[in-house]
Amino acid sequence: MHAEIISVGTELTTGAKLDTNSQWLSLELAEIGIQVLAHLTISDDLDAMAEALRTAADRSEIVLITGGLGPTLDDLTREAMAKFGNVELVRHEPSLEHVKAMFAKRSRPMPERNVMQAMFPKGSEPLPNPRGTAPGIWMTHQRKDGSVSHVAAMPGVPSEMKQMFRQQVLPRLDGSGQVIRRARINLFGVGESQAEEILGDLTARGRDPDVGITVHEATITLRITAAAGSVDECQDKIEKTREAILNRMGTLVFGVEDEEIEHALVRLLRLRRASLSTAESGTGGLLAHRLTGVSGFESCYMGGVVVPTNSAKRELVSVDPMLIRQFGPISEEVALAIAKGCRQRFGTNFALAVSEWPEFDADDPLAPVPASFVALAGPKITKVEKVQHFGDPAIAKSRTAKVAMNLLRLHLIEG
Ligand code: AMP
Ligand code: MG
Repeated sequence: MHAEIISVGTELTTGAKLDTNSQWLSLELAEIGIQVLAHLTISDDLDAMAEALRTAADRSEIVLITGGLGPTLDDLTREAMAKFGNVELVRHEPSLEHVKAMFAKRSRPMPERNVMQAMFPKGSEPLPNPRGTAPGIWMTHQRKDGSVSHVAAMPGVPSEMKQMFRQQVLPRLDGSGQVIRRARINLFGVGESQAEEILGDLTARGRDPDVGITVHEATITLRITAAAGSVDECQDKIEKTREAILNRMGTLVFGVEDEEIEHALVRLLRLRRASLSTAESGTGGLLAHRLTGVSGFESCYMGGVVVPTNSAKRELVSVDPMLIRQFGPISEEVALAIAKGCRQRFGTNFALAVSEWPEFDADDPLAPVPASFVALAGPKITKVEKVQHFGDPAIAKSRTAKVAMNLLRLHLIEG
């Protein structure tokens, strides 16, 4: 069984808005083992929509449409469905009552145009929309060969669409009898291709469960996808693959699902009852921003300062301006002095520091690779790491903040 997803709206085809509905729906369909054959984004054009419906409904058993159910003149999904089904639009009284009630609830008069939202292609079934005015439409299409396909039209507003899909559409879909479950494992400290090399056969095509690699701002995510007859079977397969991955990747792995390095770091700091402070030049507070985004950070993260200038470095973290003159603002020595000064200033067990930021010259291929330094100071450790910015400059700051946090994470694991 296959599905196709059609997203309707000129705001999507012009690029003013991104179609996120299709992605969400595809992930939901995968959960019940229904493969998606195609995504189509189409402008508010009646003929193009009717034509797209014909093609999709002849090719796939399930067609999901989002958008174009509103009351305005450019909302043409219901007309397109009537045209596609070769039927007229008829009024559905309970839906009209619902639309009226929605306006009454907001104490606003109902514009005449909204009557349109209670019109349905003859023979179709309205899908209630508790969150908005526009009900959805469920329509069964008789193909020439006698088989049937189903078309479900849902509102474009993502929150309304999601609720309608889960409450109204999902129960109408049979699924393939297969269950699909996913898990994500996150790691940091190697490149994508290096990770692939270490994983070896685990990422082979056609392996069950499937393991895919994606990278976002230098964090590598391994996506495990398992298909089986039951949820338990899926979880079992995922668990075995997870163990195999952990065996090979070791301490490179820091978390699962949406976790980032800061979550792992805060967890470890709390476990060790250790405290942390930060002083940043080049990352301008990114470390502080990330750390304070983790729930429960207050019990281990004591504060941070931004020290872009020599005077800030002197006043806030007691770095001697002579040292900066001697070694330069982007140096091991100064990064370490900032970390030590920060640790003293806040009286924490550990401090992380980031040096000043280098110039990026994208036009000169022979220019040296820009670099900055991150440093860690602790009771039994001082450590500096040079961070070279080979890749995309847009992610260099977030990568640098992660390198700094990872320095302490590894120390806490090993220590
Ligand atoms: P509509 O149901 O066509 O009136 O769409 C209402 C609003 O939902 C639009 O203005 C968009 O902001 C949003 N929307 C419509 N289609 C999508 C989509 N495919 N993905 C994300 N947002 C959408
Ligand atoms: Mg629209």
